[in-house]
Amino acid sequence: MPADPYAWIEESLATIHRADWYRSVQTIQGRPGATVLLEGREVINFASNDYLGLAGDERLIAAATIAVQQLGTGSTGSRLLSGHRESHRDLERAIASLKQTEDAVVFSSGYLANIGTITALVGKRDLILSDQYNHSSLKNGATLSGATVLEYPHCDVEALRIQLSQQRQNYRRCLIITDSVFSMDGDLCPLPALLDLAEEYGCMLLIDEAHATGVLGNTGAGCVEHFGCTGRQLIQIGTLSKALGSLGGYVAGSATLIDFLRNRAPSWIYTTALSPADTAAALTAIRIVQQEPQRRTQLWQNVAQLKQAMQEEIPKLRLLPSESPILCFQLASAADALKAGQQLKLAGIFAPAIRPPTVPTSRIRISVMGTHQPTHIQKLVETLKDLHL
Ligand SMILES: *Cc1c(COP(=O)(O)O)cnc(C)c1O
Repeated sequence: MPADPYAWIEESLATIHRADWYRSVQTIQGRPGATVLLEGREVINFASNDYLGLAGDERLIAAATIAVQQLGTGSTGSRLLSGHRESHRDLERAIASLKQTEDAVVFSSGYLANIGTITALVGKRDLILSDQYNHSSLKNGATLSGATVLEYPHCDVEALRIQLSQQRQNYRRCLIITDSVFSMDGDLCPLPALLDLAEEYGCMLLIDEAHATGVLGNTGAGCVEHFGCTGRQLIQIGTLSKALGSLGGYVAGSATLIDFLRNRAPSWIYTTALSPADTAAALTAIRIVQQEPQRRTQLWQNVAQLKQAMQEEIPKLRLLPSESPILCFQLASAADALKAGQQLKLAGIFAPAIRPPTVPTSRIRISVMGTHQPTHIQKLVETLKDLHL
């Protein structure tokens, strides 16, 4: 009898357990918000990407409900066959208007937007330069494209310049890819310097605004707006599922780019169109982002309040550099991070431990919402003071 060809899976799982890398789901009940029911207990929610509190907003819920009643639950086909609806175009126009680009196209998720765009833009004869801390969807898109992939040290413009000067001429096209807000650290990419380098070396630049859309910039357009780079040539990707409270992804850029993606991005062509409910919720969210800047103001006030309290009252918890609502403090080991996460949960605070292989060093990741109340933030600070590891 040959050995069981599946036996390695159990051994592999055991290794994951031994490293304290094992993960499993935790059940959230009821509507999302600043507080949620986590396995039956009410906790203050510092774990979601719902920065503006829109995922539980009555107006998004109403828009999604009406869309389901009028258009049904499923879109029944891909956009190019039978799944295209007027609301998809309305949403794409709204994204282009928020981003101040010529056009936009929506995908079924941000992950699929990255994979589809990168594989459409570059291939075997091309070069991708990728920040070492980039999101999994950028990294996997790069691998899948078949291009040569070189990572550069996190946000290191000088190292990137050296790679470009040594390698650029050996390849046909070159694409630089980066998160705008780094999702597990909270810092920002050096966008103006990246744009200058891209221009100097004749490279395309793709920026993933997943955690920035609705959050950064005066009108909520993201990091590009925050850095005053609106209108410069680049490829902007993002998600409808974080600050916009829905589900789906998008690419925004020139009309030519978007037209090309509709013809060449396999994860757009060969997948079912966004559902009517998700589409309607996202469109409503973009209108709220544009019409209610006070939601963003409140979010940034909350971020400033928490940062200041943590730095003054618990300096021993070393915050990683952050310019976003994502605040992380590092712990010595994955086991310590798990312990801290457990203690927080017992005290009624939901802030997860993030461990390798998602990040190189274990940490607790706190994401602030505009709908957190001052008492929520105070309770978090008090609980962090009492952590014993
Ligand atoms: C969450 C995230 C994505 C994936 O977006 P989904 O719409 O959830 O698939 C892509 N890039 C970054 C940087 C993210 O944080």
